[in-house]
Formats: sequence, structure tokens, C-alpha cells
Amino acid sequence: MDIFNKAKESLSAAGKGFTQKASDVSGLAKVTMKIKEEEKQLDQSLKELGTLLFNQYNEESKQLFPQQSENIRQLYAALQQDREELAYLKGKKICPNCGAELDGDVQRCTSCGMNVENVVRPSRIQAYCQSCGAQLTPGSRFCNNCGAKIE
Ligand SMILES: [Zn+2]
Ligand SMILES: [Zn+2]
Repeated sequence: MDIFNKAKESLSAAGKGFTQKASDVSGLAKVTMKIKEEEKQLDQSLKELGTLLFNQYNEESKQLFPQQSENIRQLYAALQQDREELAYLKGKKICPNCGAELDGDVQRCTSCGMNVENVVRPSRIQAYCQSCGAQLTPGSRFCNNCGAKIE
């Protein structure tokens, strides 16, 4: 009888131990997930704050954090050029005023109404005249050399 009870006791103790462990594991996973989620939200909030500060206190940002501000400025510039290039490769163009992507032959921005007739190709793309082969001035609509219209 004693032995039976002891065995029962130790069994239930083992069972308890197991249950305890299992809830530790799920607790661990829960906290780990919570931390990850909080880290993600913190990152997001810091990013939002950084964007707000950079946009509203641009001059101050430049003075206080010249290196970071310069990095951001360069990335913005590179991004803009790459977006223009991508649009050009797709036969489209980017409105210099509002950044909307427009069909290549559009004369006025459909988004802000700006005259985009002269926005022909992004400045970075070196283009050559199809008639005479002369290198074209970026943004020009006619060849400087032979006067051919640039498509
Ligand atoms: Zn526009
Ligand atoms: Zn030409």
C-alpha cells in the first residue's frame, strides 16, 4: 500500500514537473514573441519620429547630425534619380513637382497640373541622337547638332 502510494505520488510529482515545464516553455515563447513585437513597434516609431524630425527640422538636423543628414540627402537624391530612370525605361516620366509617374507623352501632370512637356528623360541617362549620333544635352527635346526631334 505504501509503495503504491509512493509510486502514485512520484508519478503525480513527475506529472506536475512536466506540466510546470511545458507552461515555462509556452511562457518563454510568449515573452519572446512579445519582445520581438515590441522591438518591431519601437523601430517603427523611431522611424516615424526620425522622418518627422528630419522633415520639420531639416536645418537643425544638418547642424546637429551632419553625417546622418548627408547620408539621407544623398539617398533621397539617388532614389529620385533611380525612380526617374525606372520610369524612363518603362516609357514613362516622373513629374518634377509632385513625383507622380506619368505616361511619356503627357503634357500636363495628371496629378498636380504642372507643365511636364519638357520632362523628356532623366538627366543621368546619356542619350544619343538617333539621326546623327551626337550626344544629347540631358532634357533637351531637339538634337543640338542636327536639330532632329528627340523621341
Ligand atoms: Zn505633378
Ligand atoms: Zn542629331
